[in-house]
Amino acid sequence: MVKINPNFQKLPGNYLFSEIARRVSAHAAANPGKKLIRLGIGDCTLPLPPAVIKAMSAAVEEMGKKESFRGYGPEQGYEFLREAIAENDYAALGIKLAADEIFVSDGAKSDCGNIGDIFDKDNSVAVCDPVYPAYVDTNAMAGRAGDHDGDRWTNLIYMPCTAETGFMPEPPKRTPDMIYLCFPNNPTGAAATRDRLSLWVDYAVKNGSVILFDGAYEAFITDETLPRSIYEIKGAEECAIEFRSFSKTAGFTGTRCAYTVVPKALKRQGESLNSMWNRRQTTKFNGVPYIVQRGAAAIYSDEGKKEVAANLAYYQKNAAVIREGLTKASLSVFGGVNSPYIWAQTPGKASSWDFFDLLLNKAGVVSTPGAGFGPAGEGYIRLTAFGDAEATIEAVERIADSIR
Ligand SMILES: *Cc1c(COP(=O)(O)O)cnc(C)c1O
Repeated sequence: MVKINPNFQKLPGNYLFSEIARRVSAHAAANPGKKLIRLGIGDCTLPLPPAVIKAMSAAVEEMGKKESFRGYGPEQGYEFLREAIAENDYAALGIKLAADEIFVSDGAKSDCGNIGDIFDKDNSVAVCDPVYPAYVDTNAMAGRAGDHDGDRWTNLIYMPCTAETGFMPEPPKRTPDMIYLCFPNNPTGAAATRDRLSLWVDYAVKNGSVILFDGAYEAFITDETLPRSIYEIKGAEECAIEFRSFSKTAGFTGTRCAYTVVPKALKRQGESLNSMWNRRQTTKFNGVPYIVQRGAAAIYSDEGKKEVAANLAYYQKNAAVIREGLTKASLSVFGGVNSPYIWAQTPGKASSWDFFDLLLNKAGVVSTPGAGFGPAGEGYIRLTAFGDAEATIEAVERIADSIR
């Protein structure tokens, strides 16, 4: 008889978002007609930029003609997109990457999980606490996390990110083989300085670890002194893989396009991780649709760049409204400057879920309880800047009223 992957039986239920949904629908049922404002989920709300739509429409037309129809494309992505990424996202920062160090994919979430295929099951894994849950659960499924004790996985190395350390992880006592870092961070909104990232790059090089750097929110960096890519740090090409996505940058959350950089200089046990990832992708993946890749490439056109910048500015304004409004209401807030996320301390040491309930019931605002991202998230809630601008202003006023 078949045996299932036993690691799936160790996974705790996806409690966070199902519990939020349960509480929100109970509230809505008890308060018909009351307008809820949702600042909980990290999903874009502005439509795709016109330049993207134009490029995708043209690609649809091409697909409908015998002369320009395309079947399977290169698994790693079309040259036109890989070149555009190398030039605009890296060469512009002074980082030299060849197109074949860039692998176009259907998502940074999938790649953050899939990357585990090229690493041994017995590697030790470090994650920040609080953390984007995909890093944890994919390693649990692969058998690298040990058992779940109700709070934590017994084999994972948790790096607490608290207000005392500016929400930056410190190198842990036990040396990890794989280190997940995400800056600007989801959920805390913290952005890493050059010095901070240098510390991690030096650490990884010294220990032979690999950094899995999630740069999904790079486009939200406004502070010019902050690094936008881990490859701005000397030595990173020998120890880091970088994940990027068009999801939050250009509204591709439903359209699906991202990419992963695996430098050729990154070798372990004499093997090129670039070759291994290429082998993995060509075996298990058949590429992102041509139509979608044409849409993604359009964000690098002059028109596309302007439109993307305008959308980002819209979300950044929301972030400022939330940050400033909540600060005025005497909450301690973090993030929201180089990030679409605002991480707010609950007043009076309330628990995450209690403050979530208060905001839901008194303000009609949906947040995300910090505790859902890990034990160190207790005592915080996360708000997102991806909402409608007017609704965001109203939400902040309602929150201020509810905690007066
Ligand atoms: C939204 C998000 C991503 C993007 O994932 P896609 O699969 O590309 O949509 C990646 N990492 C983090 C931390 C995110 O919040």
